[in-house]
Amino acid sequence: MTKLNRREMGNSSEEDLAHRVLKDIKAPSDLGLLRCVQCGLCTSMCPASRHSEYDAREIIKRVLDNDESIIDDEIIWNCFYCYTCHSVCPVGNSVCEVNQILREMAIQKDVGKKQIESFMSFADSYLAEGLGIIPEEYHGQLKIDYGKHWENLQEQLQDIREDLGLESMYLLPEAKESVDKTLEAIGFKKRVQEIKDVRNRK
Ligand code: SF4
Ligand code: SF4
Repeated sequence: MTKLNRREMGNSSEEDLAHRVLKDIKAPSDLGLLRCVQCGLCTSMCPASRHSEYDAREIIKRVLDNDESIIDDEIIWNCFYCYTCHSVCPVGNSVCEVNQILREMAIQKDVGKKQIESFMSFADSYLAEGLGIIPEEYHGQLKIDYGKHWENLQEQLQDIREDLGLESMYLLPEAKESVDKTLEAIGFKKRVQEIKDVRNRK
């Protein structure tokens, strides 16, 4: 028999995991987390659930059961934000958005920082160029995927842009400075440094 969650037992607390998710700044005001009826439609349509041990419905169940261990569980990182669950849920819940909040909680606890290490080179490109360029460490795989077209694109990108009447994709110095100030003001630089510090401590 399914274990009753706190909400069903009538002793939900403003401090339980579900309410903390709902109070998060990322949570839409109409997020139907507490209305989840465990129908499993999200799981039936979820590609991550099809190809891994991840189970979209189970994620919501654990949140409603106030199971804090889900924050540390690597399974939450299997979702890739396709939003299919979001579009099919009959009660307006979104496993996708709940997952985003759980991951943020994991990052705050440091346990999630190692999961986003692989994105640090994107962060570095924002810091260096003010925009997200494809980091060099991904070029090898792209070369395999695109074959000769990748070489052509790499070598002729500027020519192609000029043919199309486009200017350089890189930012002008004033724009770059403006992005740099914004990244500082919103705490992006501090956050990137914190993540790198965790990596360096290992
Ligand atoms: S589709 Fe919606 S109501 Fe059904 S289990 Fe998933 S989150 Fe809950
Ligand atoms: S957003 Fe995540 S949980 Fe939702 S269907 Fe896509 S992979 Fe599954």
